[in-house]
Amino acid sequence: MNPHDILKKYFGYDSFRPGQESLIEAILSGRDVLGIMPTGAGKSVCYQVPALLLPGITIVVSPLISLMKDQVRALNEAGVHAAYINSSLTEGQIEKAFSLACRGQYKIIYVAPERLPTYLFQDFARQVQISMVTVDEAHCISQWGQDFRPSYLNIVDMVAGLSVRPVVSAFTATATKEVREDIQCVLRLQEPKVLVTGFDRANLYFEVRNGGSKDAQLLEYIKEHRGESGIIYCATRKNVEAVYTALRMADIPVTRYHAGLSAEERKQNQDQFIFDERPVMVATNAFGMGIDKSNVRYVAHYNMPQSMENYYQEAGRAGRDGERAECVLLYSPQDVRINQMLLSNKEFREEMTDEEIGAVRERDAERLKRMTYYGTTKDCLRGYILNYFGEKAPRRCENCSNCLHEFVEEDVTDICRDIFQCIREMKWSYGAGTVAGVLHGSKAARIKSGGLDEISVYGRQSGVTEFRLKEIIRELAGMGLLEESDDRYTVLRLGEGAKDVLDGKQRIIMKFARPKEKKMPLPKKRAGVSGDLDSASWQLFERLRTLRLMIARETGVPPYIVFTDKTLIDMCVKRPKDKNEMLDVSGVGEAKYKRYGERFLEEIRKE
Ligand code: ADP
Repeated sequence: MNPHDILKKYFGYDSFRPGQESLIEAILSGRDVLGIMPTGAGKSVCYQVPALLLPGITIVVSPLISLMKDQVRALNEAGVHAAYINSSLTEGQIEKAFSLACRGQYKIIYVAPERLPTYLFQDFARQVQISMVTVDEAHCISQWGQDFRPSYLNIVDMVAGLSVRPVVSAFTATATKEVREDIQCVLRLQEPKVLVTGFDRANLYFEVRNGGSKDAQLLEYIKEHRGESGIIYCATRKNVEAVYTALRMADIPVTRYHAGLSAEERKQNQDQFIFDERPVMVATNAFGMGIDKSNVRYVAHYNMPQSMENYYQEAGRAGRDGERAECVLLYSPQDVRINQMLLSNKEFREEMTDEEIGAVRERDAERLKRMTYYGTTKDCLRGYILNYFGEKAPRRCENCSNCLHEFVEEDVTDICRDIFQCIREMKWSYGAGTVAGVLHGSKAARIKSGGLDEISVYGRQSGVTEFRLKEIIRELAGMGLLEESDDRYTVLRLGEGAKDVLDGKQRIIMKFARPKEKKMPLPKKRAGVSGDLDSASWQLFERLRTLRLMIARETGVPPYIVFTDKTLIDMCVKRPKDKNEMLDVSGVGEAKYKRYGERFLEEIRKE
């Protein structure tokens, strides 16, 4: 069999995605590889397909128990014998798994890095032929990354200790140059084939909602997406509880996750989410690592995260199956404050010097700033993300709220001059709210009592709302013409280039949302569908989904592992009538056909 046959037989796919084939070929020719591909790009296939073609066993090192379980479950469903070895098993179970492995029962074994130096593993490794060692989430080996795991260093000794050096393949979605070089170096990859596919996730739609009641918007949004699975991220446990309660009151099938809940409840809630019993999850960022649920149709951020890295990782949990999914950020300037507070309370390891702590704080503040600008930019959101990660992007993607919004341009040079003037006169001691209040001519006590109503520009922009003035200030900060201090009470200073505006050498044009327009002209397509399904197909899709849920409950296998949304949609498009046609559906391999094919055919025939 060749890689294509394996892909079809076990995974049910007709063709490889970009990059997959070249990595597989390199592995099969005996070369080390490093694959850097975004979430959902299909990294697993890159090592699972060659694992089935190589003569010996493939060891996959993976950091998270839940991730391993999921992968092994999915492989077994696809008819591939696989096992995992981690701390969730007893010593007896581990011994049994190794003894079965020695007898050739498994082609792929997932192992937690802590297990590699154990006697049981070492003994096993001496007895069998290991053809490949795969390092999943390979950035965990780099001290540069946020997720460094010292136990990953065990991999190096393990590989060095084998009598015949296997192929080493490493995969990650983290792309910074330092991390990439570190992985190659620390893992001692030998002239690896390095493949970096773009960071873009074309199936994700990005949106920022700015202003208005978050609760009302969120509720409306979730109602519009009823029946779909989504994650709502909040910054604090308190917010998780509040949002969770509000959604429950509105009869949304919702569950929650944060570090304040008992381990038992966390597990139960996570399972309810994974099995689509409660498809909406409200959580802090403690939730998500190791969640492979492929049919998450939206990720909404009730609060802004602390960095673009965090945002893209969390938002990226939407649409892993490649179907359309949405990432919505509910932005409010208060979130900047919450995050500043959380950052200022951040704890550091004792051995860190003041200088090191200072450097980390500076980096954190910079990251938060860049995140904030994402919340306020009028440019293409996808472009902003890609540029942040060092990639070039077209000016417009036509698949984010900014590209789909209509904006009007306005010359705001005079307003900007007054803003600069105001900041100067107030001796650089105030933030955006006060500056906007003074220029608008606010009668608020905090302005009057400070004597700020006596400065020359007080009330000079009375025709412009305070909201708009703050919007302009934020944008000026994004352009670098204003600088915001990083301490608790953010104050504004003039940035480089402000002088040119004051001197009349530069004019400032800004874009504003066209007034009185419905806030978000969402594309008519319902999230989750890439093709144009007619209403009959929709009904069929819903029926197939119900059948999938029933099977999931019967078998204890999560619905998205039975079949992904994408596979169900393909069934609705192709309407297979018999076994051969069913095997033609993307995602239906031979093992899955045997298990579930007939039941789905029967449901389709009911039409
Ligand atoms: P990653 O590990 O890169 O985040 P996965 O390996 O989980 O991504 O793959 C994401 C989804 O894409 C899975 O549902 C997987 O079955 C599917 N997939 C992978 N390769 C292909 C392919 N060649 N054709 C169609 N679907 C694929």
